Amino acid sequence: MISVDEALRLVLSHAQANRPRRLPAAEALGLVLAEEVASDVDSPPHDKSLVDGYALGSDDFARGQTELVVVEQIMAGDVPRRALAAGQCSQIMTGAPLPPGADAVVMWEQTTTVGEPVSRVRIAEPTIRPGQNVMPRAASFARGQVLLRAGHELRPIELGLLAEVGRGEVAVVPRPLVAILATGNELVAPGCQPGPGQIRNSNTSLLLAAARRAGAVGLDLGIGRDEPEELARLLTEALAADVVLVSGGVSAGVLDLVPAVLARLGVEQIFHRVRVRPGKPLWFGVSPASPAEGKEMAKLVFGLPGNPVSGLVTFELFVRPALARLAGQRDFPRATTRARLVCDHEHRGDRPTYHPARLEAADGEWMVRPLAWRGSGDLAALVEANALALLVAGDYSLPKGATIEVLPL
Ligand code: AMP
Ligand code: MG
Repeated sequence: MISVDEALRLVLSHAQANRPRRLPAAEALGLVLAEEVASDVDSPPHDKSLVDGYALGSDDFARGQTELVVVEQIMAGDVPRRALAAGQCSQIMTGAPLPPGADAVVMWEQTTTVGEPVSRVRIAEPTIRPGQNVMPRAASFARGQVLLRAGHELRPIELGLLAEVGRGEVAVVPRPLVAILATGNELVAPGCQPGPGQIRNSNTSLLLAAARRAGAVGLDLGIGRDEPEELARLLTEALAADVVLVSGGVSAGVLDLVPAVLARLGVEQIFHRVRVRPGKPLWFGVSPASPAEGKEMAKLVFGLPGNPVSGLVTFELFVRPALARLAGQRDFPRATTRARLVCDHEHRGDRPTYHPARLEAADGEWMVRPLAWRGSGDLAALVEANALALLVAGDYSLPKGATIEVLPL
């Protein structure tokens, strides 16, 4: 059996970024940029006032002139019509362009108006520097300047910047499409009342949501019976996606038919079974690229164990990093943290265990509490969980306060 690290290395060695596509910027949140973005404008486009006040020539003030004639009112969006001569100023609003002859702005709070209607202002500010309260043209960036490079993730900040430079469309790495097929004769849809021997299908809902949260698009293929022809038909349909998640049918039972059906469909097994708890039966394979579809990338097929917690843990450990790679994310650090146990903990088992746990910050330190948990079928125990505590293989007890590795969920 291979280790978690070796399995992850194998998964990532088969995962490549999807082919870039042009999308409306409004649909690109969370996606990775696949081109360089340069500006088509200067920002700001003119020397602009940073305050509401009066634009003036700082040398007037240096000459001791503290009372100026107001010649114009300039709003944001206006173009100044009057150049300032000595002894003149213009009333100006935040964002408006400075008139010719002005090189500074004094805030209105530092002025008093003299005469009615406002025609002169007296300035109370003790000193006025050239450039005071002014953002010079192109101070943020200049036309032609490259602002974003390929590989950059588009967050709200970048979407604002794309709007500022007039980019309504961008080349991005599209979201991976993930087909999800639940298998098992015992399964009924969540809306049904289970009969004797039956349970509701919880994995499809769990995996669809996990895939969506990981930035993928989920495709629900429903429930497949443990019957080779039905599985072959549904899996053929699933293989149109970038990634296939088949839940159940990969253990050692009589009706665990998924690996054989996948082999028949030409999916090459890369590994089966990983030294981990829960999640040992995990199966992983690749389906060769189909040039007819215009795909140069192999499809990734994960046979996830049917127990819901095993499905969740193997999703976190292997599927999520693969989806990040497909989405063009270059670095995918496994974001574990170290935390101290809030109680003694007893561990038994020959596999590294990802134990559902509650992670909390206390006095600037991460503290972790392993939850009472009845194994991989016990999804309800995870309602309180926000992390998986990594317990190394072996039979041992850890004292309260011991430091262990934790994977936040
Ligand atoms: P399997 O991996 O098919 O052997 O299933 C392992 C366990 O997980 C069995 O107890 C199944 O009943 C359960 N199981 C399988 N698929 C699902 C599912 N979609 N939703 C909830 N439980 C499931
Ligand atoms: Mg089954």
